[in-house]
Amino acid sequence: MAGRPVHTFEVLRTENLTAHIVRVVLGGGGFDTFTPNDYTDAYVKIVFVRDDVDVSALPQPLTLDSFNELPAEHRPTVRTYTVRNADAERRELTIDFVVHGEHGVAGPWASAATPGKRAFLMGPSGAYAPDPAADWHLIAGDEAALPAISAALEALPDNAVGKVFIEVAGPEDEIPLKAPEGVGVNWIYRGGRADLVSEDRAGDHAPLIAAVKEANWLPGQVQVFIHGEAQTVMHNLRPYIRKERGVEAKWANSISGYWRRGRTEETFRQWKRELAQAEEGANA
Ligand SMILES: Cc1cc2nc3c(=O)[nH]c(=O)nc-3n(C[C@H](O)[C@H](O)[C@H](O)COP(=O)(O)OP(=O)(O)OC[C@H]3O[C@@H](n4cnc5c(N)ncnc54)[C@H](O)[C@@H]3O)c2cc1C
Repeated sequence: MAGRPVHTFEVLRTENLTAHIVRVVLGGGGFDTFTPNDYTDAYVKIVFVRDDVDVSALPQPLTLDSFNELPAEHRPTVRTYTVRNADAERRELTIDFVVHGEHGVAGPWASAATPGKRAFLMGPSGAYAPDPAADWHLIAGDEAALPAISAALEALPDNAVGKVFIEVAGPEDEIPLKAPEGVGVNWIYRGGRADLVSEDRAGDHAPLIAAVKEANWLPGQVQVFIHGEAQTVMHNLRPYIRKERGVEAKWANSISGYWRRGRTEETFRQWKRELAQAEEGANA
C-alpha cells in the first residue's frame, strides 16, 4: 500500500443525508491521477494529513512513503471508504461517511469538512459487482455498507430479483434507494447509534442477524453481499450463509466486517488477522 500514488482532491461541498451520514463531494485536481473502476463496492484509502504538514515539501509523486521522514506524530492516519459515486466527466468523487460522535479520525473530519479542505486518497480497489448470472441477490449491511449497497442496487438490471436488509438507528436514517421492482428493501431499526446501543442490540445480538435469518429463501442461485459491524457479519451472518445455507464461496465472496465496535481501524486490522489465523488453524 505504501508505494501507491496518493491522489490530491479538495472538498467541493457537503450534505447531511441523515443525522448519522454526511456526504462529502471531492473534486479539484484528483481526477488528473485517479481512475474509477467498475466495482459497485469500489473503495479508497483516505489519507488524513495534519493541517500543519506541508505536503508540497514532501517527496513527489506523493505516496505514503513520502511521509516516512516526518516525526511519528506528523504521519497521516489511513481509513477505508466506499466510493459512493465517481463522475469522471464532472470530476467529482462522492463519499458517504457515518458520523459516530467525537471519536475517530474520519467521522469527525467529515462532520467538519468545508469547501476547499484538502483530501488525499489512494485507490480505488474493489471486488464485487452484482453478477447477472445469479437468479437472485441477498444484500445486507449497516450504515457503513449503505454506500456500497446503494451502488449495487443502482447497478442491478430492471428485472433483477432480491432481498435487501439494512440496519440503521431508526426510521429517520432511511434514505431513498433506487432498487428494481423485484428487489424488496427492508429497513431494520436497532434503536440507536451502532457504537452506543447496548450489547443486546449489537454484535452477536444485532437485529440484522435475525432479519436475514428469518428471510424466506428464493429459488435458484443466490449471490450474497453482506458488510457491516465485524462481529455481526463474521461470527454470525457469514457462518449462516456459508455453512447453514451452504452457499459456495464463488457466490458469497463478498461478506466481511467493515468496522468493529470498540476498535479503531488500526486495532480492527489486528482483530481481522487474529480471526484469519484462528480460521486457518481450524481448517488445518
Ligand atoms: C472496504 C470498506 C469500505 C467502507 N466504506 C465505508 C463507507 O462508505 N462509509 C463509512 O462510514 N464507513 C465505511 N467503512 C468503515 C470505516 O472504514 C470505519 O468505520 C472506520 O473505522 C471509520 O474510521 P474513524 O476514523 O471514523 O473511526 P476509528 O478511529 O476507526 O474508530 C473510532 C471509534 O469509532 C467506532 N466506529 C468506527 N466506525 C463506526 C461506525 N460506522 N459506527 C459507529 N461507530 C464506529 C469504532 O468502533 C471506535 O470505537 C468501510 C470499511 C471498509 C473496510
